[in-house]
Amino acid sequence: MLDNCADSMSVQTIPAKSEEAREIISYDPGTGAELGRAPLASQEEVVQAVSRARAAQAAWAALSFAERGRVILKARAITLQQLDEIATLISRETGKPVSEALSMELVPTLDAMHYFARNSRTLLRPQKIDIGQYGLMGRSSSILYKPVGVVGIIAPWNFPWATPAEEVVMALMAGNAVVLKPSELTPLTALKLGEVFRSSGLPTGLLEIVTGDGSTGAALIDARVDKIMFTGSVATGKRVAEAAAKHLTSVVLELGGKDPMVVLEDADIKNAARGAVWGAFANSGQACASVERCYVQESIAAEFIARVLEETEALVQGIGTNTNTDIGAMSNERQLSIVDEHVTAAVRRGARAIAGGKRPANQDGLFYPPTVLTNVDHSMAVMRDETFGPVLPVMTFKTEDEAIRLANDSVFGLTASVWTKNIPRGRSIAERIDAGTVMVNEVLYTHGIAQTPWGGIKESGYGRTHGRAGLLELVTPQHIHVNRLSFMPDLWWFRYSENAGKLFSGLATHFTTGSIIRTARLVPQMLRRFFETRR
Ligand code: NAD
Repeated sequence: MLDNCADSMSVQTIPAKSEEAREIISYDPGTGAELGRAPLASQEEVVQAVSRARAAQAAWAALSFAERGRVILKARAITLQQLDEIATLISRETGKPVSEALSMELVPTLDAMHYFARNSRTLLRPQKIDIGQYGLMGRSSSILYKPVGVVGIIAPWNFPWATPAEEVVMALMAGNAVVLKPSELTPLTALKLGEVFRSSGLPTGLLEIVTGDGSTGAALIDARVDKIMFTGSVATGKRVAEAAAKHLTSVVLELGGKDPMVVLEDADIKNAARGAVWGAFANSGQACASVERCYVQESIAAEFIARVLEETEALVQGIGTNTNTDIGAMSNERQLSIVDEHVTAAVRRGARAIAGGKRPANQDGLFYPPTVLTNVDHSMAVMRDETFGPVLPVMTFKTEDEAIRLANDSVFGLTASVWTKNIPRGRSIAERIDAGTVMVNEVLYTHGIAQTPWGGIKESGYGRTHGRAGLLELVTPQHIHVNRLSFMPDLWWFRYSENAGKLFSGLATHFTTGSIIRTARLVPQMLRRFFETRR
């Protein structure tokens, strides 16, 4: 049901840019109203932003974790003071309900700010490495984690606050400077993020925001930042990886998904149905980890589908700033057309839309009704390609093996979920599914956990954000190796001799087994070699 959509405004869905004015215009996708404008940064402006960031980074890296953490916690306090204003801005710029701006963007970011401000020192503590028998020769090794320098973050529009903000926090805590290029659809949210950090006392240059479109993102890569954190579509991700490779810049790619949900006959059917509906329709299905394919065991399919339908029909769709809205507008016309195409093509091939299934005629705002499809199969785009909209296709399976095969039959591998009351069974199935994260009795939300790694396999990308694994993407490990026996030449140094050759054969046979007892057999040869090298 559609609730109070704004009347009669034409919806501008593609950000207008005028070459003369070099600006982008942000629109509310629920009403079509212009929200504001932001500069379309030129290549030159991007280069300047990167050089300001580079100039500021060394002094920032020289601060302690506690000092850096204080700035992050100040930014956190300012965010909290302006919570409603920020949530409303996110909602208006994306179309999502204010409730979701709070629960899916601000809560996780505030949590990440707290976690990384307090724990980065421990997570990046220098580590001693056990070097085995080399340790008996007076040597030691340790790893230090040094900031990479300037991190370029290129972000999408679907979580315009949480996705870049959490990466900004991690990058800054690791001692880096950041240049952020937000989506052309959501520049105002990014500029607000910049304002929050500016007010927190973050020194100038440490968070540069370059608003613009794909050309601005490309310019950021060409400006030779030290790391690219890219979140977006597979097609753009491939272009980004190619462009970054020209400068050998390392890249983290957080790309698309087609995330499966497997509901076993011993699941809590009611809760699984509620999970499916939230996982598929939250953020209007525009989450990389949305439930995009649901597989339910045949014996419980009828009851599960009936409950899914009941939950779906109860949802209220409308303007994101209305307090009772469950599903807002989609964020842009291009995405809405893809959704429409996937559903229409599936229905043409025999799928049944038991809820939704048609873009409303004469509807203002970019709304697509929550849609549940049955009679679907893997020949349909809606089961293979990323739909990125409020569509839940449900398919049945007979056996556990069949469910796993269907779940893995995808070019994507971001997240997946398994639903069962039998937790050991859930875990063992989870381990057989190819995805970066597999949840048991949960969907979608682990991007919101600061401590756990986030990222995919296959075409969902590579590298990680969040948790220690995410922090490690933003530093360079430096190995420090020390030989305390500074007066002793190594046995493998010049000059070589017959005795040296015998010792090296002995090392190959005994030392490389890691056994001290076996290596001890070489002591007479080692002593001979020691006196030989001292001559
Ligand atoms: P997109 O690929 O169109 O754009 C992403 C960003 O890249 C934007 O800021 C855009 O301006 C920029 N860009 C475009 N061309 C570029 C180029 N040649 N060089 C550098 N930057 C360029 O993606 P989108 O439509 O904004 O976002 C939706 C996609 O993001 C979906 O596929 C979704 O699954 C994915 N996503 C993934 C994750 C994840 O964590 N894996 C999270 C959110 C969204």
